[in-house]
Amino acid sequence: MADRFGVDAPATIVFSLFYAVFCTGFIYQSKEFSGAGLSPEIFLSYNDWIGSEELRFFVYHMKRTAGSMVIHSLLPAGYLVGYSYFTSIIDMNHPTMYHFWAHWPVFWNLLMLSVLLPVLAASIVWFWSLNGWERHPFVGKLRLYASNSSWHQVRADVETEFRRIDKISIRTNPLSKVVVTDNWIVMVGAWPWSLQLSHQSDVSLELASSEHHRISTEGEIGGAQFLHIKVVNRKPEISSFIFRLNSLEYQNLQDKVTGTIANLANIQVYKTVSERFVDVFKEQIRENPRARVTDELEACIGCMANTANVTIQRSCDSSQEGGAGAVDGGADAAAGGAEDACVSCYCRPMWCMDCMAKWFASRQDQSNPENWLGSKCPCPTCRSKFCVMDVRIIE
Ligand SMILES: [Zn+2]
Ligand SMILES: [Zn+2]
Ligand SMILES: [Zn+2]
Repeated sequence: MADRFGVDAPATIVFSLFYAVFCTGFIYQSKEFSGAGLSPEIFLSYNDWIGSEELRFFVYHMKRTAGSMVIHSLLPAGYLVGYSYFTSIIDMNHPTMYHFWAHWPVFWNLLMLSVLLPVLAASIVWFWSLNGWERHPFVGKLRLYASNSSWHQVRADVETEFRRIDKISIRTNPLSKVVVTDNWIVMVGAWPWSLQLSHQSDVSLELASSEHHRISTEGEIGGAQFLHIKVVNRKPEISSFIFRLNSLEYQNLQDKVTGTIANLANIQVYKTVSERFVDVFKEQIRENPRARVTDELEACIGCMANTANVTIQRSCDSSQEGGAGAVDGGADAAAGGAEDACVSCYCRPMWCMDCMAKWFASRQDQSNPENWLGSKCPCPTCRSKFCVMDVRIIE
């Protein structure tokens, strides 16, 4: 049968591979799956069972996590039934699926166990749902804050704040999100145990670490920086947690939390692409040869705060009209390269490293930050073109 498609692998193996990919994508909600609407929420919103997150935040997430657990518990049985079908009917190893099961009693027992799994999960969820979801694991977390009232009151208070338009809601990965309201920080994940709830007055926030990605999956220009924020709760019974956010959202978060976000490790947060570039630029010119000047150095005319400490001395080997004699390939480079070549600049040092980097960034094609480092820029004073290789730090 499989030969018809020119593939030698038995259909059972193809099915197994396909199922493994499907489960991984479905459980971890890869972009393709959530984009195609293949998420537990879609099934759970049938007949509006799950309700509205906006109106009843906790009920929505209790139902979502409990329902997802039941849906996920169906996956093993789906695999075993599919496997039986493919190996007996499509690959014709056995006349019927019953023959296959009779031949492999272990497989039959596994199948029975996998059928029990969703039954068990559904029973647990039914038990949780009694009395308005009173036994859902989320309620335990809500109770920690209900010292002198019922957990319903805490739930209602957080939900009221969630309905306000100025809350911030950050998707930290495909499965979890962090919501910051006027008084609360809430993190919900995919599982019925994955709720973190903290009152803002109890927590201190800390910038734990950062990671850089040269390529951003969100298509952001210039790659992405992600920050790990640690939320430490002063109440010993409430555990601390860490979430990850894009550095471009850091300012929003900082504006919304009442305290400050401690940056003990002095991590540089890049809120814009240009900020990120300034660092790369400075790193690059530190590798260039140094310059010596006899002029007395004055304050940078860009910021008036630092002393001017860089100068432009053409040292790259881009071709140049007149001076290009020594450069090989001058003939054809002169035509196309003349306009693009670096030109010697005779200006005295007037700029500091930071201002020069910002000037350089501001003169680039803003939609193409990947090319900035290799591009040219006119000198801020005489307009001679220069590149990163030509900027020298003054000793
Ligand atoms: Zn400056
Ligand atoms: Zn110049
Ligand atoms: Zn140059």
